[in-house]
Amino acid sequence: MKTTNPIFTRIETTIFETMSQLAMANGAVNLGQGFPDVDGPQDILEKASQSLLDGPNQYPPMLGVPELRQAVADANKRFYGLDIDWQSEVVVTSGATEALAACLMGLIELGDEVILIEPLYDSYLPMVKRVGGIAKRVRVNPPDWSLDAEALKRAFSENTKAILINNPMNPTAKVFSDEELELIANLCKTHDVYAICDEVYEHLVFDGRKHRPLMSLEGMRDRTVRIGSAGKTFSLTGWKVGYVTGPAHMITPISKAHQFVTFTTPPNLQKAVAFGLAKDDAYYLGLASDLAAKRDRMAAGLTALGFGVLPCEATYFLTCDISGLNLGETDVEACHRLVTEAGVAAVPVSAFYGSDAPEELIRFCFCKRDEVIQDALDRLSAYLSSPAASARI
Ligand code: PMP
Ligand code: GLN
Repeated sequence: MKTTNPIFTRIETTIFETMSQLAMANGAVNLGQGFPDVDGPQDILEKASQSLLDGPNQYPPMLGVPELRQAVADANKRFYGLDIDWQSEVVVTSGATEALAACLMGLIELGDEVILIEPLYDSYLPMVKRVGGIAKRVRVNPPDWSLDAEALKRAFSENTKAILINNPMNPTAKVFSDEELELIANLCKTHDVYAICDEVYEHLVFDGRKHRPLMSLEGMRDRTVRIGSAGKTFSLTGWKVGYVTGPAHMITPISKAHQFVTFTTPPNLQKAVAFGLAKDDAYYLGLASDLAAKRDRMAAGLTALGFGVLPCEATYFLTCDISGLNLGETDVEACHRLVTEAGVAAVPVSAFYGSDAPEELIRFCFCKRDEVIQDALDRLSAYLSSPAASARI
């Protein structure tokens, strides 16, 4: 038989799917894959079901239903002061995952360099490669995950077409500082580079912080696309409704890629997301403060058990240093033990690196009911103090 595409033939199933399968098989509390265990607002669910019954349930416009594109443009104005033309500057996709694929397909040419910041979301590297791009990785390092300005400057070359940044960042839970955003913006302008901003966690930022899109910095409006996800903003990750906002000259090729990947996204879900985006400030503030309380509960519990909990400014995730806990040689081994022996699923952070990954960090997802967080902490506590645990040493 002839060979199949090597990138996808060699690649493993994503760590999120793998850990969720292992969690199910072992009856473990699943703090691996990032999804809330309570569905988002009832009124959004009702809007979706009513729209489904009312119809039509036929192909909506390729760019997305007008009310969602308008709602995305309005949200950009409301939250960030960005003026977006809903007709030419928004495309609705099937989740941020498709948005990322469409952006890379629409913008990258064979041999273009694309700067990625490591640790990186798992689809970035294979998708950059698959569209013919050359990934240039720059690292942020724990515990503060700050960006090394000199390393970033060195990554830009005359062949750089784009930088792909994830802000707020999974799995580090980092929010890029104003200085870092300004540095990135200046480098993009100096080297005439596009920015693809994965901002799916834009509304999940804590402790009074406010998300600042790279697109809102001076001179960036015309060279940046920003990606949002209703999955994260409304705790409905299974819906897979995403949206890309940017200048028409970037959105046009991106939408041409989108038209041959999915063409469109279920119309009832789009209408419900349009309704959700117009929710009042209390909704958005409540979302962030509820999550921050869960973060604090989880962080306190893990710290008491000896995990080295790193700072968490945003997202669903706490990253922990497991050195000294004797959970195994590597993060992968530790996560395997935790899911099979302790009954708690986490994600090894090495899965977010292309190579030379640190092996002492694991990620816990905290967007769970309080009793689920407590159950996980109790299981970890029992495991760490069990004879099985002493036998490991
Ligand atoms: N980007 C990042 C950084 C993510 O963590 C995720 C997963 N939640 C996605 C993109 C994909 O989002 P979606 O579920 O909307 O495809
Ligand atoms: N973004 C989620 C995470 O980081 C997973 C999404 C997925 O499974 N594709 O856990």
